[in-house]
Amino acid sequence: MTDHSRPLLLVLNAGSSSIKFSLYDAADSGAGNSCLGHGSLEAHADTERLIFRAADGAQQSAAWPRTEGTADTGTLLNLMEWIDHHAQGRLCAAAHRVVHGGDRTLTGARVNSTLMRELQALVPMAPLHQPLCLAPIDYLAREHGGLAQFACFDTAFHHSLDPLEISFGLPRAMTEQGLRRYGFHGLSYEYIAGVLPQYDPRAANGRTIVAHLGNGASLCAMHNRVSRATTMGFSTLDGLLMGTRPGRLDPGVLLYLMRERGMSAEALEDLLYHRCGLLGVSGGIASDMRELADSTAPAAAQAIALFVRSVVREIGAMAAVLGGLDALVFTGGIGENSAPVRNAILDGCAWLGLQHSSAPDTSQGTCLSLPGSKVSAWTIATDENAVIARHALALLHDSA
Ligand code: ADP
Repeated sequence: MTDHSRPLLLVLNAGSSSIKFSLYDAADSGAGNSCLGHGSLEAHADTERLIFRAADGAQQSAAWPRTEGTADTGTLLNLMEWIDHHAQGRLCAAAHRVVHGGDRTLTGARVNSTLMRELQALVPMAPLHQPLCLAPIDYLAREHGGLAQFACFDTAFHHSLDPLEISFGLPRAMTEQGLRRYGFHGLSYEYIAGVLPQYDPRAANGRTIVAHLGNGASLCAMHNRVSRATTMGFSTLDGLLMGTRPGRLDPGVLLYLMRERGMSAEALEDLLYHRCGLLGVSGGIASDMRELADSTAPAAAQAIALFVRSVVREIGAMAAVLGGLDALVFTGGIGENSAPVRNAILDGCAWLGLQHSSAPDTSQGTCLSLPGSKVSAWTIATDENAVIARHALALLHDSA
């Protein structure tokens, strides 16, 4: 039986082939106990499937014939109808993960037409991801005008980077025009920074590297839970090897491909976002770490080894910026779940004074380092939607 009196907040995280969402009790002013459950809406060959797992563990599912456009009309129409019929309450607000917030220093903002114009203007900086984030905001503004909407930016956590971390070595005028490092995965880093004191007070007040290792992957070097360096840069391409992105790459390769192979900007974009990384290095076996780990092909093992090497190399760079290291935290799908990959990375960090146990324990909040290790190591599950909800609920209640 649906309780229509309870006000609900919908948190949306729109990706290229799925929408992840969470529902929160909007009467809660952001204390953090208000999550009613998490769901996803995935496009398959000819159907769209919704799965929702309520906070009490109960699972619901639904399916519709596939409609065109992932984060647009059909999909969101289905989601909104499902919420209307099945959610325990009445939607009053929606909050969105937005990949690029430009120079914005605050994580959350209420959506209005001025903000939307600013976020649209950032599309050329994140041409594949930003439109996916903005489409649901546009749709809900058009079709559900009464909803309060909020945007939370993946860049904002890195507003504390200093000029030495922001600049690429381009002419000053270009840096001032915005051709600089922004950094991403900020909502995940903000979550980890928020819970770190519960796990490791020394690290929370000291120097910590957080490794967000999923399909997209990056590192954040924090001092006192504030971002001091990060591996992603102007775009989400830089830094670590990822599922389908190369990470750090000599720009001379791009010049060569343009000049000698006649590759267009579109062809390069397709190569760099979709055909490199674990997928490319493995010779097309998989972009997914689990599938690579299951493969016996040498190229799969080489792809995993290159991933590990890229993480170890960049941990060295991040530790240098911090002037030492007190803790390393793993999060994201690979960081939370793959003990072999974590152990290989931890082995590569022995020179920093990190001694770890090899126990394949993957329960969350596990300490991976041995007692007496100079550097502690942890696996902590991230929750970006909780950060989005906290900001949105605070803004909602502020304006009430
Ligand atoms: P996204 O960046 O899309 O949010 P996730 O954080 O969900 O990605 O991470 C997806 C990655 O995590 C995939 O490479 C997947 O194979 C990997 N992964 C998830 N579970 C496991 C596991 N048990 N062992 C190894 N890798 C895993």
